[in-house]
Amino acid sequence: MNIALIAHDRMKEDLITFVTAYRNIFAEHTLFATGTTGLKIHEATKLKIHRFQSGPLGGDQEIGALVARNEMDMVFFFRDPLTAQPHEPDITALVRLCDVYAVPLATNMGTAEMLIHGLKRGDLNWRNIIRRKNGEKNE
Ligand code: PGA
Repeated sequence: MNIALIAHDRMKEDLITFVTAYRNIFAEHTLFATGTTGLKIHEATKLKIHRFQSGPLGGDQEIGALVARNEMDMVFFFRDPLTAQPHEPDITALVRLCDVYAVPLATNMGTAEMLIHGLKRGDLNWRNIIRRKNGEKNE
């Protein structure tokens, strides 16, 4: 599965803790992240992560492009609910695209816990079947 990881500055420690706790599960998948989030998670876990631009410089939109091509299977997006972000329109756009394509999206630790267990259980394996049927790359 292709999985996106994004965290605003005040939420980065939470996402690092989360990915570290479930490192074994994340290690079985293809990981993508916005610039700084990806760097910090890589430093903490040594997981291989494809890094896009930093969020304010377009990283959210790059991840959104994969969602729009139906190539992203799950998004962990730890938004800061208490701080205004300069790239608020990009954040809204990414969340909207996840809804358009019914991509599971966790914006907080509570939902993230649910999604990671679903991922481990294989709840999204049907997406690989669809991909194979369409002749796309199987992750
Ligand atoms: P960053 O971007 O991972 O580069 O910090 C995240 C964001 O602020 O959207």
